[in-house]
Amino acid sequence: MTHHPHATSRFCMHCGQRLMSAIPEGDTQRRLVCLDCGFVHYINPRPVAGTIPERDDGRLLLVRRAIEPRVGTWVFPGGYMDVEETAEEAAIRETKEEALLEVQELSLLGVYTRPGPGVVVVVYEALAFGEGAVGDETSEIAWFRPNDIPWEELAFDTTHWALRDWARRRGFPAPED
Ligand SMILES: [Zn+2]
Repeated sequence: MTHHPHATSRFCMHCGQRLMSAIPEGDTQRRLVCLDCGFVHYINPRPVAGTIPERDDGRLLLVRRAIEPRVGTWVFPGGYMDVEETAEEAAIRETKEEALLEVQELSLLGVYTRPGPGVVVVVYEALAFGEGAVGDETSEIAWFRPNDIPWEELAFDTTHWALRDWARRRGFPAPED
């Protein structure tokens, strides 16, 4: 799946006129505004959901990204939510797609956000069933001991923050940002 989280139409979805950048009345930020009908095209972050799958030997699964951005770095399985699913369902589906892995007993680890471009990442701890295999958007998968998490090769700030919380909950050291 290809994602364009901040792609926008240049035309009003109500009346088809060209949208202009302007500060709407009562607002403080520039928005895309239709000067014809007054429609304001808000751009909001799109939630991402993912899991940190854990085996009964205490190892966690990470996948190596085969796509931009940050191709070649490690991340836990995750991706954009579909509009018809819950965060848990999205996290389970993405884990299946990217690592061909079944997970159960999801438990919320945390919600990680950063500005510009806005991202909201909902991360679950989960029990893994099976070994998994290379799936969509992934060039490699690996099971890491908590002491062997590749901190220097992680994909995003949000990946680092979630794995840091995961490791510390289990009593393992994790570097600050
Ligand atoms: Zn309009």
